[in-house]
Amino acid sequence: MGTKELFSIAADHAARFRDTIDSRPHHPLRDYAGSLEAFAAPLPEQPSPLVDVLDQLVTTAEPGLHLMTGPRFFGWVIGGSHPMGVAADFLTSAWGQNAGNHTVSPSAAAVETVGGRWLLQLLGLPLEASVGFVTGATVANFTCLAAARGEVLLRAGWDADANGLFGAPPISVLIGDDAHTTVFSALQFLGLGHDRVIRVPTDDQGRIVPAGFEQAVADVSGPRIAILQAGQINTGACDDFGRLIPIAKSKGAWVHVDGAFGLWAQVSARRRHLTSGVEQADSWATDGHKWLQTPYDCGYAIVRDEVAHRRAMTISASYLPLASEGERDPSHYVPELSRRARGFATWAMIRHLGRQGIEALVDGASDVAASIAQALAKEPGIAIANDVLLNQVIVRFGADWPAEQADDLTKRTIGALQREGALFAGGAIWRGRQVLRLSVTNYQTNTAQAVEAVEAIVRAYRGERCAAA
Ligand SMILES: *Cc1c(COP(=O)(O)O)cnc(C)c1O
Repeated sequence: MGTKELFSIAADHAARFRDTIDSRPHHPLRDYAGSLEAFAAPLPEQPSPLVDVLDQLVTTAEPGLHLMTGPRFFGWVIGGSHPMGVAADFLTSAWGQNAGNHTVSPSAAAVETVGGRWLLQLLGLPLEASVGFVTGATVANFTCLAAARGEVLLRAGWDADANGLFGAPPISVLIGDDAHTTVFSALQFLGLGHDRVIRVPTDDQGRIVPAGFEQAVADVSGPRIAILQAGQINTGACDDFGRLIPIAKSKGAWVHVDGAFGLWAQVSARRRHLTSGVEQADSWATDGHKWLQTPYDCGYAIVRDEVAHRRAMTISASYLPLASEGERDPSHYVPELSRRARGFATWAMIRHLGRQGIEALVDGASDVAASIAQALAKEPGIAIANDVLLNQVIVRFGADWPAEQADDLTKRTIGALQREGALFAGGAIWRGRQVLRLSVTNYQTNTAQAVEAVEAIVRAYRGERCAAA
């Protein structure tokens, strides 16, 4: 069998999978145990023909797939893997480029240079900043915080990149109490400790309280890193950057912003006020595979001070060519050397949608989120637990009942929704209470999809309420 035939079969499977989503339930047909059983087999000793392997992969994997690319997938904060990005990603795999440096793959390096510049323009960030193409916001946070760690210690006379942290002056890390769990992981990887932080109080939406922040920044001395957030994972709320960043800077702190999805508010004229002042920070982590709809894995580590960024990440060896003036080696901005050429999918998505298309995506998803919240709030006993300003909606069921009963009803409603499969959404705990969490992060989720989703949610809720009453 030729390459063309094999690739065509794979493309046919891909298109069929995508085009039949609406006829399938929004939950995996097989759970982990079932999937494990389906895949489990002794180590193959003999070769198998190409097509047989492909067919077997498809029939074994598909029942255990979640329809994350579907228009009524509201779980976690998961992008839709837009067909444009997927097609670019097919080519990326087929081209088989190692994106480590500019000599190994000139195109892979150049597309990141241009894609990075486009991202800075889209997100309204300083154009002198450098951009690392990483797996996602977790590694973007790690990369940015590595730059922060190196720079604040260097200012205190300590070269952490060369000498590590043993004997280094202590760094005070200030972080909002509702920061994303992966930021704590990044701190853990960096030797800064996930518990060795100063947690700053937040308000009812999860935003850092400015007075508490000012106090916390003033209460510490020595090197400081302050970590702010654009887009709280439950509420979508953004910190008040215009107030917080000058406070942190007045004490010499490095300010990092985790903006995995929320930073994209910057693209929208109607929503930019939510992230106003964010461009004053020192580093930003965001995702391509959430709101930009690139396929997984794709995130961006953005650092204002390119020298600090490179110092933290540079890999050098005698056999690796050095970049000269005007050249850019992708590996200088990320933890890995050999990796997939992530820039192609980013380039294709921005080229396809353009600034206006991306703005429409952000506004469209946020408007749909607002309309879902409004429609749900009309049903007696349903309460929206956040201010829906971006793409996140959290919902309480049985809000007119005692809190424990409402927790139970909310859990039951989520269970019923997941069994029915008209849409997918999950639960979360917010301020100690069970909520249903809806994230509108898919390019296909429009008003009609929102109406269907609301109907399904109300149907599930009424059924469970009736049964519980
Ligand atoms: C999703 C998310 C992350 C983690 O990003 P990954 O792309 O999953 O690594 C971090 N912070 C926030 C606010 C997020 O929403």
